[in-house]
Amino acid sequence: MRRHSIALLAATVLAAGTVVTCPPPIPIRSADDDQVFVVGEAIMAGDADDEPGRVEASPADAQNAGGVKADVDTSCSDQSYALKTWKVAGTLTWLYNADGAPPAVANTALQAITNAGNTVAKGANRCGLPTTFTTVYKYGGAATVKPQVASDLTCTGNDGKSVTGWGSLPPKVLAYTCTFFNSKGAVIASDLLIDNVAYTWFTTMPAGCAGQLYDLETTMTHERLHTAGLAHVDQTRNAAQTMTPASAPCDTSRRLLGAGDYAGLKAAGTVR
Ligand SMILES: [Zn+2]
Repeated sequence: MRRHSIALLAATVLAAGTVVTCPPPIPIRSADDDQVFVVGEAIMAGDADDEPGRVEASPADAQNAGGVKADVDTSCSDQSYALKTWKVAGTLTWLYNADGAPPAVANTALQAITNAGNTVAKGANRCGLPTTFTTVYKYGGAATVKPQVASDLTCTGNDGKSVTGWGSLPPKVLAYTCTFFNSKGAVIASDLLIDNVAYTWFTTMPAGCAGQLYDLETTMTHERLHTAGLAHVDQTRNAAQTMTPASAPCDTSRRLLGAGDYAGLKAAGTVR
């Protein structure tokens, strides 16, 4: 198989609370000379002070808006989303490589990843919106190959397999997805690397959760939404949506989609 040289723009690693700007797609040549693009997307670790699902209105905001209430859950009122240029059409089959899975989640990670895929496939949400999306994220079995995502956030190639697995990522990066799509915007493959060095994970939140301990399912929902064609929204203004660039530890409130995530998924499906 011919190797491809992919000069992917590495995602800039930013402090939590800032928006990660998505790089433009980089065209490469695939084996059959059809044009193929690849884009990498990160999710960043947030601070323990971050409160996803809550909007903290500053005193100035409150005044300007005639009394905006702080701590309002905007999960279902915020319709904000941002789109990439691809979508999943029909069925995306993904594989899981358990090599390097942290012991704490070794037995439950596959289920959490599966749940997240199903959430995105059907549009499962926190707002009572119909779960009528018709995409399928199908678990295709154990992979022996690694995700083609390097520890420096380079997408290292496309073997045609969509592999989710574990490895080292730069500081602040919880997980990273490289998505390959064709000139029609249809996803060909999507590889996902989850950090197993700097961060620890849970699939059921422990009592007294503290420190840099993150919900795997929430993170996987976010990453699968990238695969589905969603980009990031604003960390502060859209804090309740799953597509904020950063996640806070010890939070499971965004496993299912918010109204903006849902609207984005709907829009992505009708882009082409
Ligand atoms: Zn992201």
